[in-house]
Amino acid sequence: MPQVTVEHAIHGPLHLNNGQPYDYLIVGAGFAGSVIAERLAAGLGQNVLVVDRRPHIAGNAYDCVDEAGVMIHRYGPHIFHTNAQRIVDYLSRFTQWRDYSHRVLARVDEHLVPIPINLTTLNTLFGLDMDEDQAQAFLASRAEPVADVRTSEDVVINQIGRELYEKFFRGYTRKQWGLDPSELDKSVTSRIPTRTNEDDRYFTDTFQMMPLHGYTRMFERILDHPRIDLLLGTDFRAVRDRVQYKQLIYCGPIDEFFDFCFGKLPYRSLRFQHETLAQGRLQAVAVVNFPDPAVPYTRITEYKHLTGQEHARTSISYEFPCAEGEPYYPIPRLENAELYKRYSTLADNTPGVTFLGRLGTYKYYNMDQVVGQALALYQRIEREHSSSAPTGELEIR
Ligand code: FAD
Ligand code: UDP
Repeated sequence: MPQVTVEHAIHGPLHLNNGQPYDYLIVGAGFAGSVIAERLAAGLGQNVLVVDRRPHIAGNAYDCVDEAGVMIHRYGPHIFHTNAQRIVDYLSRFTQWRDYSHRVLARVDEHLVPIPINLTTLNTLFGLDMDEDQAQAFLASRAEPVADVRTSEDVVINQIGRELYEKFFRGYTRKQWGLDPSELDKSVTSRIPTRTNEDDRYFTDTFQMMPLHGYTRMFERILDHPRIDLLLGTDFRAVRDRVQYKQLIYCGPIDEFFDFCFGKLPYRSLRFQHETLAQGRLQAVAVVNFPDPAVPYTRITEYKHLTGQEHARTSISYEFPCAEGEPYYPIPRLENAELYKRYSTLADNTPGVTFLGRLGTYKYYNMDQVVGQALALYQRIEREHSSSAPTGELEIR
């Protein structure tokens, strides 16, 4: 995989691709940019340049070994889960997998209890010994029906009532988003179900697993194609006028691309505090959540649970949500969706550029959804190619 640094030719044009224009310039080497780059190169024989302003590939899914030799996820815990066989099939070309079912505990009232709330959570918190039917009746008696469920507060109150909402959701959400759940779209807390059985898995998707040798290794293989060139540590703005290309696929923030002409789209950021401890294990599961508003962080992740690595020490990270910094989370609420719509309309009227991914389309997408979005874009491009190419011109794969 050719890697070039931009410093060699900081003034004037970059002589890449033998001086020929690239078919595609792709901004962002995360899931969106890497998957579409691989498809265009391997599937359609296109010459592609991928740039990323970070010094590494894999976007937010980047993992690496820390100073102690423990594998960590630089940007917080990334657990692969999906119901889509075709997405598993696609990624399985580039990685083997390790079975992993994610489990999370929440610290509430001095207890460590499963979240999503399940039978164990309820019995532990309330000192009861209910069975499944009794737990259903218990929740039904506490639920406060909301006629028109619109916000992230409505969803939870409607299902489990105010007391459990306050214990598990209100404080966590206020910290995570800097907003009250009543100010967020219902889709946010709808991600977390409520159960009355003992299932303590965080996700119930058909496929739940981790790339056996990590995400970064998987991305190295996705991008390892002779038609893909890669420039790391390079902002799009540093190359936009210095390389030639026919089409642009932009996986960075859409508002930044358009110089914030309609104003800034809000994103939520995080500060990660990484630590290595002189002990083999810290906590029983990979992630412990802290809904208590008095605790400044939202969760602690212990990476060895995710990776299965054996090591005498263990590495963890605390997550401190913040307003400024890397744009990690688009914030789902009506006024932001409306502002995004203005940008997406402008994008539709800007020839030569397509927006993709969590930042490019301002969607709170999981990894599998971004892969799905990239594969769908590829199918569209492939159809356009086959309808515009004279018969016989396309390579048969
Ligand atoms: P990104 O991974 O953000 O990649 C975009 C890339 O574009 C970045 O590397 C950035 O540097 C680059 N870029 C932006 N602007 C420019 C520019 N101007 N010039 C050059 N480069 C630029 N999903 C799951 O499925 N499971 C999980 O467990 C999970 N956990 C998560 C935990 C956290 C803390 C976060 C923040 C996200 C999590 N996600 C999870 C979501 C997952 O990270 C995203 O779905 C996925 O990474 C999105 O891929 P992407 O390519 O769209 O964006
Ligand atoms: N949430 C909460 N308490 C929890 C876990 C989640 O209030 O213990 C809410 C919170 O608003 C969070 C949302 O549910 O942002 C979605 O949680 P998820 O774990 O899916 O968030 P992510 O992994 O994307 O940060």
